[in-house]
Amino acid sequence: MLSWWKNLIRAITTVIQGLWVTLRVWKSTYDPNRKTFTEHFEYPEMPVQVAPRYRGFHRFDVTTCIGCDQCAKVCPVDCIYIGKERVENGKGFKLTHFTIDYSKCMFCALCVEPCPVDCIFMGGTLDLSSYSRDGALVDFTRLPIDVAWGRATLNPTAVAESKAVLSPVHGGPSEQSD
Ligand code: SF4
Ligand code: SF4
Repeated sequence: MLSWWKNLIRAITTVIQGLWVTLRVWKSTYDPNRKTFTEHFEYPEMPVQVAPRYRGFHRFDVTTCIGCDQCAKVCPVDCIYIGKERVENGKGFKLTHFTIDYSKCMFCALCVEPCPVDCIFMGGTLDLSSYSRDGALVDFTRLPIDVAWGRATLNPTAVAESKAVLSPVHGGPSEQSD
């Protein structure tokens, strides 16, 4: 009987707490001092602050990737496309493409876990707006290395410029060992 009363009280307080949050947010929409979004963040000049573990657009280090396909295999929506070819001198592969289709990616971060060389992480960028679906296809091998690997440096302008780059900017780990 006691647990029945406890459950009843907990249910009532939970409902009241939820309604209180709703009431606070509803009231704040009528606050005459409420600022617009751009007054808070001056977007896009001053990006919105995100949590350290925010799962934004990826950061990728083309100089370290060994083209093992682990990230592509584990991706639940098959949105990582890796092109590679054998290096002429020495062992291993070099990347010809490393493209992520952000019209399919759901930012689950499953691709980060299996990477044996820690060269792919979720970044802190949240804006990759474009006028066509082509802008959602990001080939990280065509981006400048500091943009592709920076935590919050991926941006629509860099992606648009990368569409005109014909060859990978770096030959991968094998290029470093030469
Ligand atoms: S975050 Fe998830 S959906 Fe996006 S590329 Fe990685 S595994 Fe695929
Ligand atoms: S990013 Fe990591 S898991 Fe994906 S192909 Fe490169 S080395 Fe392999």
